[in-house]
Amino acid sequence: MIERTLILLKPDAVQRSICGEVISRFERAGLKIVGMKMFWADRDFAKQHYAEHVEKKFYPGLEDMIVMGPVIAMALEGVEAIALVRKMCGATDPKSAAPGTIRGDYAQVSYEHADEKGIGVKNVIHASANPEDAKKEVALWFDDKELHSYKTVQEVHVFE
Ligand code: ATP
Ligand code: MG
Repeated sequence: MIERTLILLKPDAVQRSICGEVISRFERAGLKIVGMKMFWADRDFAKQHYAEHVEKKFYPGLEDMIVMGPVIAMALEGVEAIALVRKMCGATDPKSAAPGTIRGDYAQVSYEHADEKGIGVKNVIHASANPEDAKKEVALWFDDKELHSYKTVQEVHVFE
């Protein structure tokens, strides 16, 4: 069950210079990077990406957060990659994210704090929630020619 999923290293991750550490975790888990780029979303693009949240109370802060700087967008491929990557990210609210997860290890703000300040929760990473979202989001962020099929060392030397 090989799946593709979209992750964004959000502007807070880029500005904190922790992208390499986060990317290493995915590589260590055996996930394959099949697309990767730096992209500075504008407000229109943010609304497309977060269409499901546009009407919500926290949306203005979320939009400010996602357009405040460039993100690193990645398409990752692997066995049941969508659920695996969500598990590695941890709970959305950093306060509830377990230690060992990306949000648990790298973020500390809570919903309460973010809502009090009217800002989006800075939780380092976005990951597609389910197969339908993954399909839409990979297509939104990447053209076909920006997605690559190749074999990793594992595939060439272990599985073949
Ligand atoms: P993401 O879509 O970023 O991977 P998620 O799927 O775990 O996160 P969503 O419910 O889709 O969570 O929320 C999208 C993003 O909006 C969250 O990652 C967070 O940055 C922000 N957010 C969600 N709920 C709140 C809230 N109550 N207050 C402030 N920001 C919020
Ligand atoms: Mg989401």
